[in-house]
Amino acid sequence: MSPAELDLTADLTTLTARLCDLRSVSGEERALADAVESALRTLPHLSVDRDGDAVVARTTLGRASRVVIAGHLDTVPVAGNLPTRLDEGILWGRGTVDMKGGVAVQLALAAELTEPSRDLTWVFYDHEEVDASLNGLGRIARNHPEWLAADFAVLCEPTDAGLEGGCNGTLRAEIEVTGVAAHSARAWTGRNAIHDAATVLNRLAAYTPAEIEVDGLVYREGLNAVLISGGIATNVIPDRTVVTVNYRFAPSRTVEQAATHVRELFDGFEVRVTDSAAGARPGLDDPVAADFAAAVLAVTGGVPAPKYGWTDVARFSALGVPAVNFGPGDPLLAHKDDERLPVQQLDQCRDALRAWLTA
Ligand SMILES: [Zn+2]
Repeated sequence: MSPAELDLTADLTTLTARLCDLRSVSGEERALADAVESALRTLPHLSVDRDGDAVVARTTLGRASRVVIAGHLDTVPVAGNLPTRLDEGILWGRGTVDMKGGVAVQLALAAELTEPSRDLTWVFYDHEEVDASLNGLGRIARNHPEWLAADFAVLCEPTDAGLEGGCNGTLRAEIEVTGVAAHSARAWTGRNAIHDAATVLNRLAAYTPAEIEVDGLVYREGLNAVLISGGIATNVIPDRTVVTVNYRFAPSRTVEQAATHVRELFDGFEVRVTDSAAGARPGLDDPVAADFAAAVLAVTGGVPAPKYGWTDVARFSALGVPAVNFGPGDPLLAHKDDERLPVQQLDQCRDALRAWLTA
């Protein structure tokens, strides 16, 4: 079967709608990746590579600096919200915000910018919305790190067309409270681990998350219980309770420092870190990034803001490439059934990126 055709010169609303209507729930990106690859292969100014359902297209003009502009092709499952519909300047449907609006901007500029002022690497990848071990950008970083070599990266995740730098890190830990099991008819012979979990919960309730300035942006941290389990039967005093906490920490802290902080807070309990990912510094003090911020903010207005959620900018950060988030759509509408995009943000984002990449 030949790939679906994408017209990269169509207006951005039409292109976004087309990309959304080519459904690509995580794991089912093949048809869309094929369409993206074949559209990019018609452009003589780009060299195109593919790894699984990720597509990478590069200019090779010998410019002094190189910029990666990346977006994921997959979406969370469709919730009766496709096909897209356009109503009074709002495009409704799965993927409009997260993040085919951003992908449309990328594709349009990939086709248009034959002589950019910096060399460009356009990255379109799979499996962002599922387990991190499947992430297409992570796979490229492992298989072909040279494809991602750059001085700066922009991830076109939704930011309401504002500039969001870096991201908080995230760490999950299990806090174990132990007691002594007993028959509930003779509870005084045991020790109730669910009752003792109150100590853990009280420390959480009394905890004031920090606000930490990193490279000029203030990151708001968070520490919350997200799961709790304990008890084996309704006539047994429980001897074990586990409270799972999620700590969202500023990018100035390492994973190790974050783990130490959690261990100190829950001193006296067994703390097991089950999962963690470092954050990313915004890097807005880097000259290329500062240039980008100035060009973008001249078009969109506003000021740079910190990104609170963990995003793939951290993968670039780990490769030593400073990265920011910049894309159309309100991030609060991502994954919602009523996901929708004011289409004028598509033009705003394209114009801002174009201004920077042609200056
Ligand atoms: Zn996304």
